[in-house]
Amino acid sequence: MQFDVVAIGGGFAGLIAANRCAQLGLRAVVLEKESGERYLCNSRYTTGIAHILFQDMRLPGGQLLRIIEKGTEGEAAPGLARAFAENSRRAIEWLVAEGGKYIMVNAPTGKSIMLAPPRRFNQGLDWEGRGADFLLRTLEANLRKRGSSFMRGAAVQALAMTNGTCVGVDALIEGKLERIEARAVIIADGGFSSNRDMVRKYITPRADSLLIRASHTAMGDGMRMAEEAGAKLHGFGAFYGHPVHRDAVTRPGHRMLWPFPMIDPITQVGLVVTPDGKRVADEGRGGIVLANLLAQTEDPLGATLIFDDVVWNTVARKGPAAGNPMILKSGATLHQASDLTTLAANAGISASGLQATVNELNGAIADGTAESLTPRRTMKPMAAMPVSTPPFYAIPICSGITATMGGIAIDTDCRALRPEGSHIPGLFAAGSTVAGLEGGSQMAYMGGLSKAFVLGLLSAEGIARAG
Ligand SMILES: Cc1cc2nc3c(=O)[nH]c(=O)nc-3n(C[C@H](O)[C@H](O)[C@H](O)COP(=O)(O)OP(=O)(O)OC[C@H]3O[C@@H](n4cnc5c(N)ncnc54)[C@H](O)[C@@H]3O)c2cc1C
Repeated sequence: MQFDVVAIGGGFAGLIAANRCAQLGLRAVVLEKESGERYLCNSRYTTGIAHILFQDMRLPGGQLLRIIEKGTEGEAAPGLARAFAENSRRAIEWLVAEGGKYIMVNAPTGKSIMLAPPRRFNQGLDWEGRGADFLLRTLEANLRKRGSSFMRGAAVQALAMTNGTCVGVDALIEGKLERIEARAVIIADGGFSSNRDMVRKYITPRADSLLIRASHTAMGDGMRMAEEAGAKLHGFGAFYGHPVHRDAVTRPGHRMLWPFPMIDPITQVGLVVTPDGKRVADEGRGGIVLANLLAQTEDPLGATLIFDDVVWNTVARKGPAAGNPMILKSGATLHQASDLTTLAANAGISASGLQATVNELNGAIADGTAESLTPRRTMKPMAAMPVSTPPFYAIPICSGITATMGGIAIDTDCRALRPEGSHIPGLFAAGSTVAGLEGGSQMAYMGGLSKAFVLGLLSAEGIARAG
């Protein structure tokens, strides 16, 4: 089998790259390891909010670049960040021309694009017929109309390399290893969030204690193959994820506890403690940072979220995926008591430790000194709320990993780079498997969809330019 281009993976990155290649006159094939008609991948599971650091992807390039530089504290690779920002709006316009649809929604940081039809925010994995599912099917149909191919059940095992140049792939198809030759190969396999060994190696030794809040397909095959071919891997340490209800890991029926409810807002105003009643981390830095900090603790399955009745009836009720009432409806653990001693006993926390922590927090909120607590308690954009109005509540929580940051080093044409900076001829990468756009002390998350959309386009155009 011979093609101009092979894309490894039928998520948004692979499908966009292959379609753009076909538009540019190249014969492409997408190899997708899953065999179902609506094979699962992170692109199908997605909530569908397309953003750059939670800002509108259609903002002018210069403005987006400043947002990336500020958010990542200058850690994003400068040229790549510029190319990314400058092509963000065009990627959205290109998707609309392909038949993609979106609506504007009010996200906490401003207006954002959401793929349409929008998610209904029902509990559990409710992706069918929603924007991402629709767009994946549209892109596959477009690819076929353009005379290119999409193969299900084709699991790429290795890159075919000749004298340091990538000349195709070896894929397992119907039980047989087949060589597929191509002038260029785009790795678009979705990163490594489902591969616990890789999560342990690159992110946290506590990988076994995380909820994989993602598709089972992201096994890091692309990163492994790229490294074998001599590519540089970098940018590890953090991930995109959220704090999640711990029952999602420890009790059956957990699928109804992720991706929603979204408990980030409760954690951001509440108190997160260990079994000895002491605070775990700075809750005010937001859900993504908290998920990362929890993942690095001694016992990521030992954290409990504490809050009072005011929080339960205000913050916990806000938003389409609110914890109240989703937690009640799912029958997940929710401890409730009229005093902290009883709450602590029910939740398996030291009563004296919890009481001391609550006293300290309430006092600091009253004095305006919460930011001086240890651990620090950031008070913006959401301030801590006192734990003072009974009944009091406790929810067991843990950390959920959705998408990995860090991976294959690329240049502005998405060419895979060697450690010394030269590129590997014929090898490209796009989507969640790449590094270079994230980082900084706030663990700035670029946006999994924007990485797939923009880098999908840029990789195809890079291949066309390479000739
Ligand atoms: C629950 C959830 C909610 C999310 N919400 C948002 C959101 O609102 N906004 C946002 O920006 N991001 C969100 N994301 C992240 C975003 O959806 C992903 O980062 C993005 O879709 C990744 O696209 P991709 O094409 O790189 O990878 P994927 O969509 O994961 O596609 C990779 C494909 O490669 C295939 N594959 C893997 N290995 C091989 C192999 N060896 N051979 C052949 N095929 C292979 C896989 O089966 C898969 O189909 C969310 C993710 C999840 C799970």
